[in-house]
Amino acid sequence: MIIDGKKVANKIKEDLKKEVSMMQIPPTLAVVQVGDDPASNSYIKAKEKGCSEVGINFKHLKFKDDINEDELILEIVKLNNDKLVDGILVQLPLPNNLDENKVLNTINKDKDVDGLTTINAGCLFQNNITLAPCTPLGIIKLLEEYNISLEGKHVVIVGRSNLVSKPLAMLLLEKNATVTICHSKSINLEKYTKEADILISSVGKKHLIRQDMVKDNAVVIDVGISRDNTKLYGDVDFDNVIKKASYITPTPGGVGPMTVAMLLSNVVKAKRRLCNDKY
Ligand code: NAP
Repeated sequence: MIIDGKKVANKIKEDLKKEVSMMQIPPTLAVVQVGDDPASNSYIKAKEKGCSEVGINFKHLKFKDDINEDELILEIVKLNNDKLVDGILVQLPLPNNLDENKVLNTINKDKDVDGLTTINAGCLFQNNITLAPCTPLGIIKLLEEYNISLEGKHVVIVGRSNLVSKPLAMLLLEKNATVTICHSKSINLEKYTKEADILISSVGKKHLIRQDMVKDNAVVIDVGISRDNTKLYGDVDFDNVIKKASYITPTPGGVGPMTVAMLLSNVVKAKRRLCNDKY
């Protein structure tokens, strides 16, 4: 069965739209971008479109890639202090001259809708989930929507990023899954992937996951994105792996729309928490 991320995301957005319509002042998301990376531009466009669908105000602060770290930090502090801004997201990657950790950790933890500050990552580590990263949240939601149970399942994640794989492992542990994380230095990747009841790949390499690397009836979730000219590919050789998988996400139309939907959900959550649930 193909997991329809777009359909699930639309359902989440419909619910959020109703919730936002009941607020006296709609939430505001501020997206901070440095430089003019084409992939970042298209991700930001998708976020802006999602916000407008749900009724969330969208503020886009775009800086030249020669902005210095202190100036950028000052801009984020201004957003922290702005009572009309509920969520702040710094679009990654940042240019190499900027310290990503330092910039991210400037964001007020209560407005950190990407869940990437050290404090929110630590909360997730301690099962005290406040604002968690959007892609892992979206993957858990997709599995729930399709009634795919996690308890006792062996989940193998390929990739060890702070953005996706590590927070995802924490959320899966909380759901009582057994989790294995593989990365570029793992020896004999297929030995692990073949053991997965649920295989999740977040690498960014076209067709890294072949049919022979997947167990019969496994659930396969494809996070990775790579571009070949203008065409988008996932990490999974979809046309062949689908013959073996019980459930599989397509690219595009799988995890991507869920990432945006969970971002919008985090913005609404941040607004609710900042207002102590009083609209
Ligand atoms: P990342 O920071 O891009 O790192 C890639 C990870 O893949 C690293 O941990 C790397 O291992 C591992 N890796 C590289 N080659 C490998 C190989 N041959 N075998 C096993 N592991 C390998 O990770 P990310 O931020 O999670 O992003 C991964 C991909 O997902 C990208 O294509 C990104 O665009 C996409 N993405 C999609 C969404 C969405 O909404 N669909 C959201 C976020 C990201 P090392 O640590 O050893 O280098």
